[in-house]
Amino acid sequence: MNGFKKEKKGRVCPKCEQEKPESKYSTVCDRIKKDGTRTLRVNRICKKCVNIWHREYKSDKRDLCNQKTNEWRESNPGKYRESKKKSDLKYSKTDSGKNIHKKATKKWVNENRDKANKTMRTCRNNIVDSYAVGLLVKRTKIDREEIYKIPELIEVERLIIKTRRL
Ligand SMILES: [Zn+2]
Repeated sequence: MNGFKKEKKGRVCPKCEQEKPESKYSTVCDRIKKDGTRTLRVNRICKKCVNIWHREYKSDKRDLCNQKTNEWRESNPGKYRESKKKSDLKYSKTDSGKNIHKKATKKWVNENRDKANKTMRTCRNNIVDSYAVGLLVKRTKIDREEIYKIPELIEVERLIIKTRRL
């Protein structure tokens, strides 16, 4: 491979300035020819430094990322609801997932009291799926996941809630 001596002594990473063996460097695609064949080469910086770089890049761009996500969410409310439902289901499948979800929600509520109250009010007023399902889980002890499989059940619960409010 490029940049490595035959005796596999390793190479100095220009970032951390440590000499590391070939296995500590990842292989990256150098260029793609017109016929689709890829020329591979060994990365210039070591795997560890690549990871650090990724993390820094992410935290640098976090605000921008969040902004983009918010924009997407606002312009695709239906798609957002769908993907939210999917991820909620995924988390609700395991206890550790449930805990992660609970913690994240709690943290968010603590940091965004006003927003959380407003959202709660909107959910309650419009009887959104998650609100109806939450009440159903409490009342029937049926798994959230099972309830989501039966949309009629959610619809009935919505009617019950509406009737109670009359
Ligand atoms: Zn390095």
